[in-house]
Amino acid sequence: MSAPPVVTIIGAGLAGSEAALTLAARGHQVRLFEQKPVARTPAQTSDLLCELVCSNSLRGAALTNAVGLLKAEMRQLGSHVLRAAAQTSVPAGGALAVDRERFAALMTEWLRSSPRIELVSGVVERLPAERPLIVATGPLTGDALAADIARKVGADALAYYDAIAPIVSADSVDESKTFRASRYGKGDPDAYINCPLDREQYEAFVAALRQAEKVRPRSFEEPRYFEGCLPIEVMAERGERTLAFGPMKPVGLVDPRDQRRPWAVVQLRREDEAGTAYNLVGFQTRMTWSEQARVFRMIPGLEAASFERYGAVHRNTFIDAPRLLNAQMELRTEPGLYFAGQLTGTEGYVESAAGGWLAALFIDQRHAGREPSPPPPTTAHGGLLAHLTRERSDYQPSNINFACLAPWDGPRLRKTDRYQAMAERALRDLDAWWTLEQQARLRTAPPHAEGSHELSDGAVGEDPRLRRDEPAGSVASYPASHRELL
Ligand SMILES: Cc1cc2nc3c(=O)[nH]c(=O)nc-3n(C[C@H](O)[C@H](O)[C@H](O)COP(=O)(O)OP(=O)(O)OC[C@H]3O[C@@H](n4cnc5c(N)ncnc54)[C@H](O)[C@@H]3O)c2cc1C
Repeated sequence: MSAPPVVTIIGAGLAGSEAALTLAARGHQVRLFEQKPVARTPAQTSDLLCELVCSNSLRGAALTNAVGLLKAEMRQLGSHVLRAAAQTSVPAGGALAVDRERFAALMTEWLRSSPRIELVSGVVERLPAERPLIVATGPLTGDALAADIARKVGADALAYYDAIAPIVSADSVDESKTFRASRYGKGDPDAYINCPLDREQYEAFVAALRQAEKVRPRSFEEPRYFEGCLPIEVMAERGERTLAFGPMKPVGLVDPRDQRRPWAVVQLRREDEAGTAYNLVGFQTRMTWSEQARVFRMIPGLEAASFERYGAVHRNTFIDAPRLLNAQMELRTEPGLYFAGQLTGTEGYVESAAGGWLAALFIDQRHAGREPSPPPPTTAHGGLLAHLTRERSDYQPSNINFACLAPWDGPRLRKTDRYQAMAERALRDLDAWWTLEQQARLRTAPPHAEGSHELSDGAVGEDPRLRRDEPAGSVASYPASHRELL
């Protein structure tokens, strides 16, 4: 078998980083282009790779939550992003949240220390000719490259708004007016500071949101919001109680001072391990900075809030994946040119990382001369692929959800029980598929897939696949050159 081609990747975000590390672990040479530190997108604040630009949460952990299932699958498949998240997690109740600095620093260290990954700094303005190529430049792909992609795919890149929630410093919160608790008492109570509002305070707050001055969209920007990330003032415009049923919902929270559920609650989620800063959960906004300070200081406990970061709004670029890509995330008109991450219209850190892993899988299968073998449609990974390939006229970005997976065909169950059953089915099916996939890899393993740095130097740590997929004895009995394939 020929030596594997160098895989070129543009973008060392969630998708590009996961793809690079996965390919390197499978014996491929990778050339990873990243604009940092030469340039940054408006949302980035650090020169570290794999930066989480907004929330520090990788969202729910429960299997009855589709993103919880996706994470469980990623762990099973040896995701580097999830391994880094596990090593840098901070308490967040029923969610997986990380210390963003430590998370990005760890991913950067792994990328920099891999002998199979060549990092090239610079803004890529045109798609390179090399193949295979993964384009993973994310929702804020620069204008020049976006224009080149548009030339290539012949489709319009869509722009709409996404938004960043503000962060306040912990010592500026008046905790005599707030209480610490996770919803439904799940997890560490210190993960959240809750600011309770009575009806009068809530109504005054909603009125202020509606009247506040907003940043105007630029002339070429058409405000098309992602429904899962609406600015709070847009929600406030939709109805008096919309926020009370959305990010300010009080369910599962009891104020210990009067043992009652408040009318509405603003939740502050811990940003860092030390608990020095908290973000206002779900409070993405287009209000001007001065208006944010004025309106958010109406929230009980935040009267003297010191803002470490204000909310903001950003463009989000994605391609019409179902129309443009084949089932292996390759441009139909140009095999070898892959797209991954949010640019394909998946939404979220976790989904983007999983997209990077999938692109790496397909490249690896192609190089080994094997038929493409995607994860089954009953799995969350299969569900992500279904989202990218289900053709529709109004394609929009989406988080993973159970509707992306093959429907439940067992006995009739209530929603939560059905999700639980679907999650168990997914993990079973993934396990069976992964076992076959690994066996197929062993049969076609390239000789140069030897001595994985990732498995030998401890930088990435022990590969969980070694522990999970085979009894220890049988793993040890594989030649060292094959261990990384497991
Ligand atoms: C404002 C905003 C807030 C968000 N908030 C959340 C959130 O709270 N939770 C959540 O789950 N998701 C959130 N998202 C979505 C999240 O950013 C993405 O899901 C995730 O980061 C996408 O991963 P990616 O790898 O596709 O892109 P990114 O993580 O953005 O990575 C792309 C990389 O490509 C690099 N790059 C871009 N253009 C070029 C170029 N021309 N040349 C070289 N390098 C380039 C960038 O510097 C970056 O490192 C938010 C997005 C935005 C824009």
